[in-house]
Amino acid sequence: MRGDRLSEIIDRLRNARRILVTSHVSPDGDAVGGVLALYHVVRGMNDAEVVCALADPVPHRYDWLPGADLIRLPRECLPPFDLAVIVDVAQLDRIGEVMTLLDDTTQVIVLDHHLEDEPAGNLAVVDPRYAATGELLIELMDAAGVALTEEIAVCAYVALTTDTGSFKYSNTTERSHKVAARLVATGLPVAEIGRRVFDEMPARRFRLLTRFVNNVVLLDGGRIALGTISARDMAETEALDEDTEGLINFARNIEGVDVAMLLREVDEHTVKLSMRSREGLNSAEILKPLGGGGHGAAAGATLEMSLRQAVAFSLRRVREVLSEKP
Ligand code: 5GP
Ligand code: MN
Repeated sequence: MRGDRLSEIIDRLRNARRILVTSHVSPDGDAVGGVLALYHVVRGMNDAEVVCALADPVPHRYDWLPGADLIRLPRECLPPFDLAVIVDVAQLDRIGEVMTLLDDTTQVIVLDHHLEDEPAGNLAVVDPRYAATGELLIELMDAAGVALTEEIAVCAYVALTTDTGSFKYSNTTERSHKVAARLVATGLPVAEIGRRVFDEMPARRFRLLTRFVNNVVLLDGGRIALGTISARDMAETEALDEDTEGLINFARNIEGVDVAMLLREVDEHTVKLSMRSREGLNSAEILKPLGGGGHGAAAGATLEMSLRQAVAFSLRRVREVLSEKP
């Protein structure tokens, strides 16, 4: 990370009086873990008021993280804030309703690791070489001279393990493992964290999982795996939005699949598309013309159309890309 920019960010964090820390809608482990890791780091630097807010509730699998009970919905927060730090996302429209808490006087810092050419904010570190925002935040912590506590460690560890798929994805580096080793050395209960974050699930998620797995179809000689979740599937299984996280991996893991797609009907006119792709295919690039983004291996988009239309529309785009890569 560039040292000058980092010290500028640390200065601003030290000098602010009311700080808002936030992340993207549908928060994942790096969003929740990143917000909370930063919260605990800033606590170690400054006695400013720090408010954590997310547009959607904290998913059950992360609700035990230290400080998770402090995360507010936007309507529970009282602006103004002189500084807002946005982690794990670089575009303001992706923080949802939290945007209403910012005004002209709010300085905005972005700390992110997505493929993003034009981050929002007054000051940004966006570096896809970090496997997770949690990894980047440990570097910020060191630069600020804040000591690593178990609270910071558990939040950063959840961020790092979720975004690397437990150190399996291609974004995993030597640095990711070195950072993880430091985090574990604080005495983290890794087995318990692993169970809560990766293994255990509410029965409603299990019901949704079986429906999704049953409707995945293999197309184009098995290069594309596509599954849908309708609003009715969500209602009948009593699943929450958070229960869809990671289901796409079952489709991605089928041998021979180059692109996995999960299309979830949010309402009659809105579909959430998730994409995963094999090495050599860039999901973020595939979804850019559809208004989406993310990483090379994992990306998403929100499509304003019916589920049927979204399937046809996104398949057309995927086939266009795959036809160039036989
Ligand atoms: P997921 O499929 O797990 O929801 O998201 C995968 C990746 O794509 C994440 O890194 C997420 O930040 C990004 N992503 C998901 N949905 C959207 C979207 O609607 N717009 C953009 N720009 N990125 C998204
Ligand atoms: Mn992330």
